[in-house]
Amino acid sequence: MHIVVCTKHTPDTEAKMTVDGAGNVSWGESPLIINPWDEYAVEEALVLRDEHGGKVTVISMGPQEALEALKHAVAMGCDEAIRIWDETCAGSDTLATSYVLARAIEQMGDVDLVLFGKSAIDAQTWQVGAAVAKRLGAPSLMYTIKVVELDPDARSITVERLLEEGRQVVSATLPAVVGTTKGINEPRYTSFIGIRKAAKMEYPAWSLDDVGAESDKVGASGSGVRWPEVFAPPAREGEAEMIEAETVEQQAAILVDKLLAEKVI
Ligand SMILES: Cc1cc2nc3c(=O)[nH]c(=O)nc-3n(C[C@H](O)[C@H](O)[C@H](O)COP(=O)(O)OP(=O)(O)OC[C@H]3O[C@@H](n4cnc5c(N)ncnc54)[C@H](O)[C@@H]3O)c2cc1C
Repeated sequence: MHIVVCTKHTPDTEAKMTVDGAGNVSWGESPLIINPWDEYAVEEALVLRDEHGGKVTVISMGPQEALEALKHAVAMGCDEAIRIWDETCAGSDTLATSYVLARAIEQMGDVDLVLFGKSAIDAQTWQVGAAVAKRLGAPSLMYTIKVVELDPDARSITVERLLEEGRQVVSATLPAVVGTTKGINEPRYTSFIGIRKAAKMEYPAWSLDDVGAESDKVGASGSGVRWPEVFAPPAREGEAEMIEAETVEQQAAILVDKLLAEKVI
């Protein structure tokens, strides 16, 4: 089995975003971390590799800072890591990002399964996983909460998907693209040995030429989305009211009355 996990680096969840007068977005000095939702994808890949054999390759389209995400995934146990970047990739939207990732996966040639986190905590479009599946012409199994069965010999996978109405069990052929969700597993902590391995590892950097991608389909000019203006939303104003009562039960009852009166519930 060759399993690929796609990941990106994101600012730490505590980071505060600012936008300057020219529309430049900054996360300040916030440390960069692996997109937290991707830890579930990495964990699932490692579990499936240990069960079925093979290797896990983690990939990211991003500048040098993307190494933070790749290193974390290697420290968790991934076997190989590849960064894909070219200056023309800067400003890519999900259309362009999915194009480059799909090209890189096609370039590897022998991929059985591609795993994603449910979304990225910064841009939060939830689009890249499904877009890569579409570009690869592979089944798209997003919001997967459980891998029920993976049969590499029969070239099939069965997963349980989380839907608003409940759960859906669906089978597909390999290669497939799976978007993981919180609850599919409990991501492991990085070990000291893993961190040392990640620090010593070589991280090949693939260019657009290496993956066979055309430069006019990436970056801001190759993107479908245009940003005529970027601004921070005005700060929300709110009021806080402390509910006074003798017991917690009385406080709860008052709160419910207020919520009913405001038609919140
Ligand atoms: C016009 C425009 C300009 C932009 N310019 C920039 C920019 O200069 N720099 C910038 O960082 N962002 C930029 N963005 C945001 C960028 O489009 C998204 O961050 C990116 O396409 C991924 O979408 P997402 O973050 O919503 O991921 P989601 O679709 O929410 O994430 C789903 C899954 O895909 C994975 N994934 C997402 N991106 C990658 C990647 N690059 N490599 C591997 N896996 C990935 C996630 O880790 C997650 O597992 C720009 C967006 C637009 C519209």
